[in-house]
Amino acid sequence: MCLDEVRKTDPDVYNAIIGEEKREKDKILLIASENYTSKAVLEVQGSVFTNKYAEGYPHRRYYGGCEFADRVEELAIERARKLFGAEYVNVQPHSGSQANMAVFFTVLKPGDTVLGMSLSHGGHLTHGARVNFSGFLYNPVYYGVGRDGYIDYDEVRRLARQHRPRLIVTGASAYSRVIDFKAFSDIAREVDAFLLADIAHIAGLIAGGVHPSPFPHADFVTTTTHKTLRGPRGGLIMCREEFGRKIDKMIFPGIQGGPLVHVIAAKAVALKEALTDEFRSYQKQIVANAKRLSEELLSKGFEIISGGTDNHLMLLNLTGKGITGKDAETALDLAGITVNKNAIPYDENPPAITSGIRLGTPCVTTRGMKEGEMEEIASLIDGVINNSMDESTLSGIRQRVMELCRTFPVY
Ligand SMILES: *Cc1c(COP(=O)(O)O)cnc(C)c1O
Repeated sequence: MCLDEVRKTDPDVYNAIIGEEKREKDKILLIASENYTSKAVLEVQGSVFTNKYAEGYPHRRYYGGCEFADRVEELAIERARKLFGAEYVNVQPHSGSQANMAVFFTVLKPGDTVLGMSLSHGGHLTHGARVNFSGFLYNPVYYGVGRDGYIDYDEVRRLARQHRPRLIVTGASAYSRVIDFKAFSDIAREVDAFLLADIAHIAGLIAGGVHPSPFPHADFVTTTTHKTLRGPRGGLIMCREEFGRKIDKMIFPGIQGGPLVHVIAAKAVALKEALTDEFRSYQKQIVANAKRLSEELLSKGFEIISGGTDNHLMLLNLTGKGITGKDAETALDLAGITVNKNAIPYDENPPAITSGIRLGTPCVTTRGMKEGEMEEIASLIDGVINNSMDESTLSGIRQRVMELCRTFPVY
């Protein structure tokens, strides 16, 4: 990355960037929501589009000089439509949360009932959590997973019939199984609710053909662009043509001002990458890697929620290992393996402690790691969890992590 200027003008920020670069390079990143974007995406985000105001939409702007902004926004829209088979796309949401907010504001009035997945069972904050706008402006009702770790569709139907939500939200941040969008849409239709499929985590898998598509089942599909999709940080909304205008108006001027043209340009680049065969193989490998990692961990006596994974992530229940999620996160990071603590369904520990960790394979797969490396990573994790207080074991594992990282460089 070219940092010649900031190095001279602002050594503090320069040093933080160098530190982050080294961290991303020298550690095994297993945070399921993260990825390494391409150099092209990084370049475009640092381009002169950062300077441009472009309130409005292509050819309908409130500023002059938008001809090149129009071009990149049209490219992003066109490519997203092609990639996901969507009728209508808005590429302006600054984040996944704002994409969801625009859908909520479009179809709901304050006080309306929303049925979403409980945060503590793997749902997202924006699916009705009390601390989020989706919880305090509306009347949220939650479904979760059964004791087996799978979404209980009969329970979703029962709750939908009982509470008659105006919107049902499907999608999750910590669910390792295939989501049955058709089943959700049947339920939504029965109770005359809109269906929002939030594919933030699995958008890349869907684009790559390794998870079923929410189309044509969902009325609205939202996503982030920076998780498995491997683009810049941001959001997208997809819907049928009939809702397009309303969604556009809700994003701007409803809840956002000027679009981030540099990010939209980077979304266009990432979406072009996602249309390649190489990207499809990448997504297949993410899933193959997650499967192998989960099998190896199971064979070492780890407990995985739902007993395994169909996608890019898994949730480990550490209760039987005698360590909390928080302490596991700390010990693993000391050994060079970065994960996040995560509540497990029916967790008895508070959210700041938790009984689990979430592991995902998008980052290590981007580095080129395959099943063999997953076997080794499972052993390294096992070593850390069984010796979490033993500094010399942790530093030995740290050495091995460094070697692995050197064999699979990032950029
Ligand atoms: C990550 C995520 C989001 C929100 O993304 P931000 O860009 O962080 O606002 C929304 N929904 C789900 C399911 C997510 O996992």
